[in-house]
Amino acid sequence: MNGIIIKGIGGFYYVESQGNIYECKARGVFRKEKIIPLVGDKVEITVNEAGNNSIDKIMTRNNYFNRPPISNVDNLVIVCSTCEPKPNTLIIDRLTAIAIHKGVKPIIVFTKNDLQDASEYIEIYSKTGIPTYVVSNHTGDGINEVRDLLENSVSVFTGNSGVGKSSLLNRIAPEFSLETGEISHKLGRGRHTTRHVELFKVGNGYIADTPGFSSLDFETNDIIKKDELADCFPEFSDFIGLCKFTSCSHINDKGCRIKQAVDEGEIHPSRHQNYSALYNEVKDIKDWQL
Ligand code: GDP
Ligand code: ZN
Repeated sequence: MNGIIIKGIGGFYYVESQGNIYECKARGVFRKEKIIPLVGDKVEITVNEAGNNSIDKIMTRNNYFNRPPISNVDNLVIVCSTCEPKPNTLIIDRLTAIAIHKGVKPIIVFTKNDLQDASEYIEIYSKTGIPTYVVSNHTGDGINEVRDLLENSVSVFTGNSGVGKSSLLNRIAPEFSLETGEISHKLGRGRHTTRHVELFKVGNGYIADTPGFSSLDFETNDIIKKDELADCFPEFSDFIGLCKFTSCSHINDKGCRIKQAVDEGEIHPSRHQNYSALYNEVKDIKDWQL
């Protein structure tokens, strides 16, 4: 049978197939070949009445992340709030770049539009081609649009503590009933402790919730090389190749067509500023370090 791994705990993998969940072990051959099954893997399994179910085959992955360990991700939903806390666009642009580099579609959701209007941020992303949504978890404004995005796909949600990610997931799928800030504060416990990655079925899609932004970064995932970074900013694409020098870093170089597009209002200065900051992070990485 064909299925998808939705959870892995202590050497057991939970595979959903045709609406049922089977507890499976991976065949020894995977260990020999040092292949570790990941949540999100599409697999072939054999089940028997004694419950000695096995994963026989792992289909080629479209993409995968080491942290969080998950494969075949379609959407990276970056949850930010318009205020309390204010968004950090460098973090957003780092995440959208990583997603694009991995072949994952980035989606930005701004919460708390009942407290503060999101137009300042919508403006920044309007020319990027990156889908951007605005919601209020209090009024329910915009929630249906976000829910519709998740159909028939695997979506990873990420967001800093306090942005309203739990509230959003509860709105999208009330069966989650995740603890939100106020409650966990009252109980005085830490949140997101010892959480493993798990896929939850919502409609025809799957959602994975991940702890903070810090778990997705340049070090633990494929490193973006400096020459690849501009390709991770979709609105740069019209101008790439038109700079005076082929070695152009698109920061402040003479004859840079991208810098000209920033000056002419085709590319938002915030995006270019964050591109430059990320470029400075990756420019000194040597090939041997990759
Ligand atoms: P998380 O840490 O990202 O999971 O955030 P929570 O869902 O726990 O929310 C953090 C705080 O923000 C809680 O006090 C929520 O009630 C509040 N909150 C979340 N979303 C919204 C929203 O859209 N509007 C307003 N006004 N408050 C929100
Ligand atoms: Zn350039």
